[in-house]
This record gives sequence, structure tokens and C-alpha cells, in this order.
Amino acid sequence: MMAAITAAKAGAKVRLLEKMPALGRKLLLTGQGRCNVTNNLDPKQFIADCGPGARFLHGVLNRFSSQETLDFFEKLGVRLVLERGGRYFPESQRSLDILLALQKALKQAGAEVVAGARVLNVTRQPGGFKIATSEKTYTADSLVIATGGRSYPATGSTGDGYGFAQELGHSIVPTRPCDVPLVVREDFVRQLQGLSLKNVELKFSQGRNKASFFGEMLFTHYGISGPMALDASRPAGQWLKEGPVQCSLDLKPALSNEVLDQRLLRDMDLQGRKTYKNLLKGLMPSSLIPVFCSLSRISPDILVNQLNKEQRGTVRKLLKGIDFTVIGLRGYDEAVVTVGGVELSEVNPKTMESKRTPGLYFCGEVLDLDGPCGGYNLQIAWSTGFAAGSSA
Ligand SMILES: Cc1cc2nc3c(=O)[nH]c(=O)nc-3n(C[C@H](O)[C@H](O)[C@H](O)COP(=O)(O)OP(=O)(O)OC[C@H]3O[C@@H](n4cnc5c(N)ncnc54)[C@H](O)[C@@H]3O)c2cc1C
Repeated sequence: MMAAITAAKAGAKVRLLEKMPALGRKLLLTGQGRCNVTNNLDPKQFIADCGPGARFLHGVLNRFSSQETLDFFEKLGVRLVLERGGRYFPESQRSLDILLALQKALKQAGAEVVAGARVLNVTRQPGGFKIATSEKTYTADSLVIATGGRSYPATGSTGDGYGFAQELGHSIVPTRPCDVPLVVREDFVRQLQGLSLKNVELKFSQGRNKASFFGEMLFTHYGISGPMALDASRPAGQWLKEGPVQCSLDLKPALSNEVLDQRLLRDMDLQGRKTYKNLLKGLMPSSLIPVFCSLSRISPDILVNQLNKEQRGTVRKLLKGIDFTVIGLRGYDEAVVTVGGVELSEVNPKTMESKRTPGLYFCGEVLDLDGPCGGYNLQIAWSTGFAAGSSA
């Protein structure tokens, strides 16, 4: 949409082919229906947060940064407001308003939108391209492929663009789901289904690879979800190619081993006539207690004053690290973003034009670009869309 608006504004005759009955199905889902349109980071920090490959974005982010995104939507009557974590959302809190603004801009610029037109294949022909859709065949002097990734395929993003790019001479970096929940081997995790934890730490490791995350998580029937699990899916997804990833859950990340030991000693002193399971009530949500007792191999009904030093040590260790094994990622159906895509070295980073096929452009998630949650992925779409549209 951004590419079509920009090209049409610059005077090109533009036709936007969308396979779904309406534009922007995925956009409507973004930010849980509120659309985290962009963030307030300067291009340098933005690129650093997205990882080494994102250096490709240097030029386009400087040309169309988050400030340009704010101005663009403001001119269309949508004010964006800054929220916690430097994230911008429409003041109305409705992603629909972002979609309506884009549709208004398409109309104002005179771009023609053909919905329900699934592109089946794209071929090169003298001076341009032939684009065959389910209904009709079109020709064009230049072509922008903006078909997104493979995530949430029900929104229309089914990865068709990778095939078109390959047909036109491009390599595709293998794709995988990202910002996606994690599948865990151990059965005890399934017993915790529905339990959500806050202010905990997850430490992931595989050999020398290490990453840790602090915040919120949720146990599910297959493993773990929630913000930390989604963030962890980026490194874990990469490491999983080599085998399972170890994970350790620290329930008391704010307390050192020593401080926690002191706290346990004090609690046990004051609550000696209570049972072990009752002592744990002060340390964790009650739905975690049966699993915790079983992992500690201590009877839930033993009296606290009967716990020995070794058992106290076991409790402390377990509070600082419940270990389990991540064996996979959930699928594209649940992934916010797709890692991989059109190989960046084959695309001009200033214009988004293909270095293989003149007149061909790419923008958005179809490229091998992705960022964490927090307005990064849409800003990548706005910036690359603007560059592709103005050059095409
Ligand atoms: C649940 C969810 C929440 C998200 N929330 C945020 C957020 O708050 N902030 C953020 O920055 N990012 C968010 N993202 C990521 C962001 O939505 C995407 O990165 C962004 O939409 C990518 O834009 P795009 O235009 O490249 O692709 P898409 O938005 O996927 O659009 C591609 C379009 O191409 C069409 N298409 C595909 N194949 C064909 C074909 N063969 N013929 C014709 N048309 C075709 C599709 O139907 C689709 O409409 C979220 C993603 C999900 C799944």
C-alpha cells in the first residue's frame, strides 16, 4: 500500500493487486487490533535492535524514518500517540483507522486497487512484466513485490512472493516462523497449562550460545508462550537447527542465591509447623506448587521443621532454575513474523530495485528483514515501501 501510494503520488499509473477480498487483513490484526505503527527509535538504534542484516535499512530509514511515518498518518488525519516502551499507536486505538487512512491515500493518489486478484505467476517480457492473476493477465513496466512473509497465512500472506522472486532470478534465504511460541519436551510443563508468570527470567542456552529474557510468560499445552517466549524464538529458532535448546526458569531473579537462602531460612523458622506445600504458597502461584513439589522430590505434606539443609538447598536451587528443553517452534499460523526471504545482497538498498532483474522491486516482509515486536516490522514495511514506490 505504501509503495502504491508513493508511486502514484509521483505520477505513475499504479495498479495494486490483492488476492484477498479486501486490503490489509494482517494490518487489522496488528498490535492486538490497536496497530503498533512504529516506534521512537533513531535509525541507528532501530538497526541495532533488528540485528546485523538490518544494516541494509540504513539508507531507507534515514529517508523515511518513524518521524516521516508520524507525519504521513497525521496528514491523513490519524494522530499517533506514544506509549510505554517508545511504541506509537493511533490515538483512537484502532488499527482500522490506519487501514482507512492508507485506503484514503491510495484513492487520493489515484492508484487502482484490484481486490480478489491472486497473482499466480510473474514473467519477464520485453520492456516489463506479465502478471497472471486468477482473473486476468496484466502487463507493467515495473513491478513491486510486496506479498509479505508466510506468517498468519489466513490473512493472505502465504509466501507466494518467494516463488515469484525465484522465477525472476533471486535467491531466498530459508524461512522460519519467528516471534512464535516454543514447544517443550517435558510433560510437567503441560501440567502448568494456563499459568502465567510475571517478573521471572528465562535463560536459554545451547553450547556456547546463551540468551536471557526477563518479564512475562505463559505455560500452554505444548510449551511456553507470552512476550519472553516470543522474543526468545529469534535466537532459539536459529539454534534449534543444531538440536534442542536448554531453558532454565528463574522464579526469583531479583534475589541472589545468598539472599534467597536467608529468606528461606527465615520463612522456615517462622513457619516450622506448616507443611512444605503451604510454605511454598508464599513463594509462588498455587497452581505451580504440585509440579514444584514433584520436581523437588520432597513430599508436599512434610512439616517444614522436618526439612533438612540439603532439602532447603534443593528448594533454593529449584526456585532459581526449573530446567526444561525447547525442542521446536510453533508454526507460521502463530508466528508474528517470518525470518528469511529475498536475499538482501541481490537488492539495491537505496531503491529496493532487484540487481538481477531491472524494473523489479521488493518491499516489506518478503525481504530477508525482520525485527522484534514493537513497531519495527511495520516501520520496515513503510520505509522499504516508500523507497520501492518512489523508485518504481
Ligand atoms: C498478529 C500480528 C500482529 C502484528 N503486530 C504488529 C505490530 O503491532 N507492529 C508491527 O510493526 N508489526 C506487527 N506485525 C508484523 C507486521 O504486520 C508485518 O511485518 C507487516 O504487515 C508486513 O507488511 P507487508 O506489506 O510486507 O506484508 P503483509 O502485511 O503480509 O501484506 C502482504 C499482502 O500481499 C497479499 N498477497 C500475498 N500473496 C499474494 C498474491 N499471490 N497475489 C496477490 N496478493 C498477494 C496478501 O494477501 C497481503 O495482503 C504483526 C503481525 C502479526 C501476524
